[in-house]
Amino acid sequence: MTTKLPTRKFDVVIVGAGGSGMRASLQLARAGLNVAVLSKVFPTRSHTVAAQGGIGASLGNMSEDNWHYHFFDTVKGSDWLGDQDAIEFMCREAPKVVYELEHFGMPFDRNPDGTIYQRPFGGHTANYGEKPVQRACAAADRTGHAMLHTLYQQNVKARTQFFVEWMALDLICDADGDVVGVTALEMETGDVHVLQGKTVLLATGGAGRIFAASTNAFINTGDGLGMAARAGIPLEDMEFWQFHPTGVHNAGVLLTEGCRGEGAILRNSNGERFMERYAPTLKDLAPRDFVSRCMDQEIKEGRGCGPNKDYIQLDMTHLGGETIMKRLPSVFEIGHNFANVDITKEPIPVVPTIHYQMGGIPTNVHGQVVVPNNGKPNDIVNGLYAVGECACVSVHGANRLGTNSLLDLLVFGRAAGNHIVEFNQKNKLHKSLPADAADRTLARLARLDGSSSGEYAQDVANDIRTTMQQHAGVFRTQAMLDEGVTKMAAVAERVRSIALKDKSKVFNTARIEALEVENLIEAAQATIVSAAARKESRGAHTVNDYGDTPEHPNGRNDAVWMKHTLWYSDGNRLDYKPVNLKPMSVESIPPKVRTF
Ligand SMILES: Cc1cc2nc3c(=O)[nH]c(=O)nc-3n(C[C@H](O)[C@H](O)[C@H](O)COP(=O)(O)OP(=O)(O)OC[C@H]3O[C@@H](n4cnc5c(N)ncnc54)[C@H](O)[C@@H]3O)c2cc1C
Repeated sequence: MTTKLPTRKFDVVIVGAGGSGMRASLQLARAGLNVAVLSKVFPTRSHTVAAQGGIGASLGNMSEDNWHYHFFDTVKGSDWLGDQDAIEFMCREAPKVVYELEHFGMPFDRNPDGTIYQRPFGGHTANYGEKPVQRACAAADRTGHAMLHTLYQQNVKARTQFFVEWMALDLICDADGDVVGVTALEMETGDVHVLQGKTVLLATGGAGRIFAASTNAFINTGDGLGMAARAGIPLEDMEFWQFHPTGVHNAGVLLTEGCRGEGAILRNSNGERFMERYAPTLKDLAPRDFVSRCMDQEIKEGRGCGPNKDYIQLDMTHLGGETIMKRLPSVFEIGHNFANVDITKEPIPVVPTIHYQMGGIPTNVHGQVVVPNNGKPNDIVNGLYAVGECACVSVHGANRLGTNSLLDLLVFGRAAGNHIVEFNQKNKLHKSLPADAADRTLARLARLDGSSSGEYAQDVANDIRTTMQQHAGVFRTQAMLDEGVTKMAAVAERVRSIALKDKSKVFNTARIEALEVENLIEAAQATIVSAAARKESRGAHTVNDYGDTPEHPNGRNDAVWMKHTLWYSDGNRLDYKPVNLKPMSVESIPPKVRTF
């Protein structure tokens, strides 16, 4: 096949218009670069818009704080799988990027003295774990909404070029293995285009839709992960998926941790505030992996609420109507719309729900994608960057602290932008497109268009989701994981025989869904295979077979498993690389047992 597709040339092609993509594009457009941003949906509908609780930064506006405490909390929260250089970089940059956002026009809530309002959040402490701290910079419970709109407006002002309802399909690599562009489907026409760039930045967000019960938007299908995996790039630490403790029972919609930040309490069927038993210091504000497991434990031991004893109650009734309407207005609406509950008067049923992927495309602190090569664990892939939830830098390790994702988007979106500006100054010319630039994409589309019989994409996608839900939940067992690997391999075979019944071109959402399933399966395989191989418990990866022993407290086995997993699509195989325990300027935080 030869490439005779419509081709456009930019300095930078960014895939994704969420917080990370738009923070990077802003840096680039302001520096005068010619930047294209592709998005499957209108930019301000990206999942970042749904973020509620806040952005973590040690401003110390409301209680004593500094970046060292934030650094400590993040390393501990990560269960010592996070890279300490990247964590230091993020926590030190945090106040700067938040003030910058304030100057872009972000409508933060205010204290009486005019400073930014900050609320407590899970796992964030003062004085190295002694007491909760107020670190989450918030705009009511619509922080992501406010942030995404602010970034969009600034991008419009800086003349970023948006390609709305364009779906990127594959990376284009040349003979040197350098990334020189992407192929993309224009949904309105069904036409395929080539977008050439000196650099490509992936900012496609998470793949939360590989699970059946998820707080994520329907567009979160892990497309960047699929694109990277198909181009031979490994995915890092994909076994670590965060369950958020408070998804609305039977609906999945998120109730921000900001509820507990404002004082909400989790209760079992006896009305007991059970978190006091498990985490005497942080109580309901212990990190998410920990709280989710405690909730699951309460349900397993018969203290769940409701007729089926299958949920926990989140009680906000004591906060008072005024605080709720001022600080948590969206939560009030969600309670009304999704649980038929007036949260000012009665508790709301919640369960741990899939929320966030800690793993992703491996990068360094400049957002450059790195892979093992020629004996180097972190060799740079020329021309390719990744930021945001699709990337693994790795600041979240085995468990992310709430508010650290919006922060990650700002810090690494900006850092990648700055690095690409430098790259652009040194590289005046584009590399040429290879003759087979679009072959992979055209072959995928031709297979779908040529299919006459086969399964519906949605049926296969649903089986991916139920398999993940059954085999990679809050508590895992080795047998469940092993069985999950076999089942997922069978589902992967079925992906190859998905058929497209409607072959029309204009806004054919069936074609888009079929293409998305090819990305879902990469993320799902990466997760289940990486999880089955990790024979310990760490952060969000809790396996009953590897429980608490004197030798391995909490089931964590640092001697063998303090390392990052790398999963390759080709051959469904695994590799590992060391965790960086050395921060940039301060002393390393040595591994300890996590208690709260
Ligand atoms: C309900 C909810 C609440 C949250 N609350 C908080 C919070 O309070 N604090 C916090 O720190 N974190 C929070 N998080 C996590 C955080 O919001 C996300 O991790 C973060 O917003 C992801 O941003 P992103 O830029 O990586 O991707 P997203 O915002 O998900 O954007 C992805 C972009 O990529 C585009 N895209 C994807 N695939 C393609 C493709 N193939 N072609 C073209 N475009 C594509 C999409 O159209 C979209 O524009 C929350 C998450 C959820 C789900």
